[in-house]
Amino acid sequence: MMPYRPEPFTDFNNESEENRFKQALVQVRTQLGRDYPLFIGNKTVETKRRILSVNPSNFNQVIGSVSHADAVLAEQAIQTAYSAFATWSGVSLESRADCLFRAAAELRRRKHEFSAWLMVEAGKVRTEADGETAEAIDFMEYYGRQMLQLAQRGERELIGMSGERNRLDYLGLGVGIIIAPWNFPLAILAGMTTAALVAGNTVVVKPSSLTPVIAIKFVELLRHAGIPTEAVQLLPGSGKEIGQYLTAHPLTRFISFTGSKDVGLHLHELSSRQVSGQRWLKRFVGELGGKDAIIVDRDADLEQAAQGIVASAFGYSGQKCSACSRAIVHRDVYDAVLKRCSELADELKVGDVQDFYCGTGPVINQSAYESILGYIHIAKTEGRITAGGSAAGGDGWFIRPTVVADADPGSRIMQEEIFGPLLAFTKADDFEDALRIANFSDYGLTGSVYTHNRKNIERARDTFAVGNLYINRKCTGAIVGVHPFGGFNLSGTDSKAGGPDYLQLFTQPKLTSERL
Ligand code: NAP
Repeated sequence: MMPYRPEPFTDFNNESEENRFKQALVQVRTQLGRDYPLFIGNKTVETKRRILSVNPSNFNQVIGSVSHADAVLAEQAIQTAYSAFATWSGVSLESRADCLFRAAAELRRRKHEFSAWLMVEAGKVRTEADGETAEAIDFMEYYGRQMLQLAQRGERELIGMSGERNRLDYLGLGVGIIIAPWNFPLAILAGMTTAALVAGNTVVVKPSSLTPVIAIKFVELLRHAGIPTEAVQLLPGSGKEIGQYLTAHPLTRFISFTGSKDVGLHLHELSSRQVSGQRWLKRFVGELGGKDAIIVDRDADLEQAAQGIVASAFGYSGQKCSACSRAIVHRDVYDAVLKRCSELADELKVGDVQDFYCGTGPVINQSAYESILGYIHIAKTEGRITAGGSAAGGDGWFIRPTVVADADPGSRIMQEEIFGPLLAFTKADDFEDALRIANFSDYGLTGSVYTHNRKNIERARDTFAVGNLYINRKCTGAIVGVHPFGGFNLSGTDSKAGGPDYLQLFTQPKLTSERL
């Protein structure tokens, strides 16, 4: 088998690639506004209650109308997944891995189509959408190979003992509940779902209510690739109703959640309570929010630092868990970095992502839009606006990239996850002070340090409390197999998605020792 290699990003300077992408977008536009069912086993279910998915770049455009599950359907979904577990976990792991490789190949063939759906449903600019589709392909290629390696590892790594044959098998756990966010509605959902499946589990997938159409397209693709219909149920519906019901269910064996801190903490607590009929400890894998910081030291390459800060803060309008929302800059270079970042933020064109030349798109919906504008209002009292500072107008949820100077490390804009295009600057006395400010947070997901000082690089590696630390580069853009991803503290269980230890979270290792 070919070794794993990350999927290359599309070169849009190549004219034929560019044309293929445009055709895919035209094709997707012709499919907007359709009705979609939900999937339970081999049944497709249409419900009266609907979820309307709307284009964040144009709130008059409906992307799709999707069936909305209730508790009765959730019960059916979980029973179907439970019944299917014995069969699916009995399928050889080579065949399960093959399903992932087939799905990856199909997604590669339909790459631009999926990226076009990401543009219209999640408001991603073309390059961000292309990167996300590549990441979804990577997860499947990587986890398929990881499962094959995990199977071999069991025997190889045990200490031999004469007169005995010992083996360790990594078995599936049972029914997994996959609860996904809207900000990587393809890649994160694909990664969580296929990791669980390849390890031999059956799943009930609850996508975000803001991006259900892309989830439907992906689950259809999995089924075409040979994953049995009973192994993967797709259940769009309100998180509060369905997500909670599924998490608390006695047949649920594990929950794989990616989303906000508050919801994650709630589900963590819920999953720890035994309910009648429950015969195991539920496993909870939760990847939550971030309040990610970039430190700029006095000897850093300032242009490189400013470019990295702006890319990390305003890529996908700041709606990445890894986005930089705090710039902590040595006092000697503070004014220069602040000025350059403010210029770069002002240069970013905000608009409909279907205009390929726009630098950044909308925020996801009205509630996010109002919340972020609320934080900009707070920012005006907690600091000094040096770029942006207002909505950008139009028929989408557009907000200008906003830079705020002189924020206190304890202020709300430096402590709370805003999840939008708002970047706060604070001044540090020296490198130690910068680290202290960076670590003054409940979160610990990503962080970057721009410095040429070797001692300070080592110091950051020892003490910067984040799961993903980057030196002299931006703090977003983790690549599967290259930068395993997950956070410290209230950023989650540090599961390191896309890393060599991830699949084990969805297995139970069983030792068999045979006296010869
Ligand atoms: P969210 O509001 O927590 O929702 C995430 C998922 O949970 C959605 O499917 C949602 O369903 C569901 N949900 C909401 N309330 C629930 C409840 N009471 N019980 C069960 N399920 C519930 O998060 P989001 O706004 O979609 O995503 C943004 C957040 O995700 C940010 O905090 C970001 O930092 C974090 N994130 C973290 C990572 C990481 O790797 N650490 C990656 C991406 C995103 P509905 O849509 O129906 O409400």
